[in-house]
Amino acid sequence: MAEFIEVFPGDEVAEEEEYLASDGTFANNGKIYASQIGALELDDDECVARVVSPNPPNVLRPGDIVYAIIADARSTMATADVVAKEGSRRGLGGETYATIHVSKISQGYTDDASKELRKGDYIRARVTSISPSLQLTTKDDHFGVIRSLCGTCKTKLVRKGKGLYCQNCERAFLRKLADDYGDVKL
Ligand SMILES: [Zn+2]
Repeated sequence: MAEFIEVFPGDEVAEEEEYLASDGTFANNGKIYASQIGALELDDDECVARVVSPNPPNVLRPGDIVYAIIADARSTMATADVVAKEGSRRGLGGETYATIHVSKISQGYTDDASKELRKGDYIRARVTSISPSLQLTTKDDHFGVIRSLCGTCKTKLVRKGKGLYCQNCERAFLRKLADDYGDVKL
């Protein structure tokens, strides 16, 4: 591994005779220049010059645990806006519009996603796929709804048995709940 030298866009970082321009660099007239701020890496094994940004975009990857708000729930799937990644305070780059297929909601059999997740629910989920689209699963005890408001009166729903309950409307609702529903500080 080469030593780290901070470079700025336009800085000459190498000769094209010795290295190929790669991530964060470009070649011009036999010279290689930085195209972004970062640490210069002259890779002698592959003969490439790179500039690695200290703050790469916070893009989601399969396996990431995320927090999301349900945008819509139909029978076959729910859609959600991912708002945060667990363990990271930085904003998210890239795609944040996600889908959750009905088969990926709970460990048990579910034939209707809208029975388990509702618009406005705040969920914790895991990223299963990012390509061709961002997909989530709530199939784990720790995943599912962590906060939900009554669709009628907007009171915060409380846990009751395996579902939720509105103390104001005195109505019970089904949900795929996370094991710590109601205990999560948001
Ligand atoms: Zn209510």
